[in-house]
Amino acid sequence: MSAQDLLRSIFGFDDYRPGQREIVDAVVSGRDVLAIMPTGGGKSLCYQLPALMRDGLTLVISPLIALMRDQVVALREAGVEAGALSSGNDPHETDRVFEALEARRLKLLYLAPERLANAGARALLARSDISLLAVDEAHCVSQWGHDFRPDYLRIGELRAALGNVQTAAFTATADEATRGEITTQLFTTPPEVFLRGFDRPNLHLAFEPKQSPQSRILGFIRKRPGQSGIVYCASRKKTESLAAALTREGVDALAYHAGLDAETRATRQDRFTRADGVVMTATIAFGMGVDKPDIRYVIHADLPKTMESYYQEIGRAGRDGLPADTLTLYGIDDIKLRRRQIDESDAPEARRRADHQRLNALLALAEAPGCRRQTLLTYFGEARAEPCGNCDLCARPPDLYDGTEAAQKALSAMRRTGERFGVEHLTAILRGEASDRIRQLRHDQLPTFGCGADIEKSSWRSIFRQIYALGFAAVNDTGSWSVTESGWQVLRGETPVSFRREQPRPRSTGRPARAGPVDPVDAEMFDALRALRTKLARARGIPAYAVFPDASLHDMAARKPQSLDALADCHGVGAKKLQSYGRLFLEVLTGEPVDTPHPARAKLANGADGPLFDALLAAHASLTRGPDGTGKFLTLTKATLAEIARTKPADLTAMEALPGMGRQKTERFGEAFLTILRAAGD
Ligand code: ADP
Ligand code: ZN
Repeated sequence: MSAQDLLRSIFGFDDYRPGQREIVDAVVSGRDVLAIMPTGGGKSLCYQLPALMRDGLTLVISPLIALMRDQVVALREAGVEAGALSSGNDPHETDRVFEALEARRLKLLYLAPERLANAGARALLARSDISLLAVDEAHCVSQWGHDFRPDYLRIGELRAALGNVQTAAFTATADEATRGEITTQLFTTPPEVFLRGFDRPNLHLAFEPKQSPQSRILGFIRKRPGQSGIVYCASRKKTESLAAALTREGVDALAYHAGLDAETRATRQDRFTRADGVVMTATIAFGMGVDKPDIRYVIHADLPKTMESYYQEIGRAGRDGLPADTLTLYGIDDIKLRRRQIDESDAPEARRRADHQRLNALLALAEAPGCRRQTLLTYFGEARAEPCGNCDLCARPPDLYDGTEAAQKALSAMRRTGERFGVEHLTAILRGEASDRIRQLRHDQLPTFGCGADIEKSSWRSIFRQIYALGFAAVNDTGSWSVTESGWQVLRGETPVSFRREQPRPRSTGRPARAGPVDPVDAEMFDALRALRTKLARARGIPAYAVFPDASLHDMAARKPQSLDALADCHGVGAKKLQSYGRLFLEVLTGEPVDTPHPARAKLANGADGPLFDALLAAHASLTRGPDGTGKFLTLTKATLAEIARTKPADLTAMEALPGMGRQKTERFGEAFLTILRAAGD
């Protein structure tokens, strides 16, 4: 079967995501590959699909235990023999994996990097007929990166021990330095590099200055009932207080941070992953390894650290490709906090300077004059000609005005008061509000006193924020504002300043990203399908999306298939899932009981090849251990059998050429199948 056919029959996807095809082709044709794809771009498919197209085992090194478990569950659900070895295994699971390994039944083995330190594990791998090494989160090999895993340095050794087996490395971290390190650590000759575009068009981007943030967040969540979301907070304490406040308002919210014990963290992550509609208020400790594809929104209750962390964090939303929302709230205090964190870190000077620049880039995005996506992608080196149409500024272009004079007034107020005062005091001076303190300090005698009385207090707040974000002023620990070098240029009239007018938020901020269809009748169907999914997932102890992702339910609710064949055409419905769940979902869709044949068989149901498939299946079952029952265990997928029934190869050569067959399997099953095919042809 071709890669494209497998994409349909095993994974149930209509087509590749952008960039996947080239990578799959390169891996299938045996080349070493380094692929850089954004989170949610669909990296795993790029090694899973080639793994199914070759003999032997594909070894996947992944540091993310929860993620690898979920992937194994998802693969098994799709009918693929996969297993994982990690510290998260129970002994029974480990036995099962070893058994499958020895019997050479396993197609994919996920391995935690710690295992590479174990000589026994290495010996087992050396015996295991590994034909592809896939390295997930390959940037963990970089000693200067923040995700460094010492055990990743053993991968090179392993690769050598496996005779320089073909290697495919994947990461979402794109910078040159990391790429270079991956290449030297993992490969002996430079791999083919795929740098996939960084755009995530399904993410709606929005920033707002903080104004009653808690009620803003609550309102945002309330508009999205039943959807899963993350609210990132800058401190542990805030995750707790926000979760408590949301819970009081009836939101199913949980807090997550590194100060919680491992068990609590695991339970909460698990509940978030498996249930629909849980909101996680979290620090960035909740991050890598969150492999839930249907997170519908990410809110930043506080400004993220840098442009890079912002993009990584919002990237956790909408990995299924359906619309997802992001909202970043920020204020002067956030900027101060982030600046201070950088200054106080013990990173070398050059690193701190770079971090300030990364923060500045994020602030520029927050105060951007036009399309956010254009600003963002330009920063990541991907210019984009057209505004995106999927950000707050595309929906409502900012109202810009010449702020040079206002900025000069504010900066001059700082200068004239000795750069020792905060926003409240400076604003009072500008507005000409003479408090006792101002009189006492004789600030009511300054030429700047009252020079900005025509501007509202709230507008001054916005102006100060923008002055700060644009780098014209600095704020120290005690809250005193001072004029920076570029601020002086503004004072001297060398730099014109453009500000954005604060606009009242429209009553309904854009559309909430809908996971379900818009039509009300369809929404009802979507809910019914989702209820069935929840029931099945609970009964099987797997995450809801491993049964079907939202995108599948969405498609089913929209198309309302009335037969198994039609259901098989829906997004994410592969042969195995059709077999496991098809009938139950069809019952919801048609409102009637359905009986179900094999899915691959079902696909042939409308043609004359059904009985042929049945005969091939029976012959196959009697030969998996060879004619005398002692041979090496070999099996064919139902999809391959269906393909044989459909194409009716005339001889062994034609049969061998069919995807999923190959020499060994043709030797085992070929003659028996030809006999059946000939008999049917007569
Ligand atoms: P990442 O690149 O972050 O590792 P994953 O491999 O986990 O991304 O894929 C993200 C999501 O996209 C998963 O839910 C996966 O099932 C889905 N996906 C991957 N490839 C396709 C495709 N070709 N069509 C539709 N969905 C896809
Ligand atoms: Zn835009």
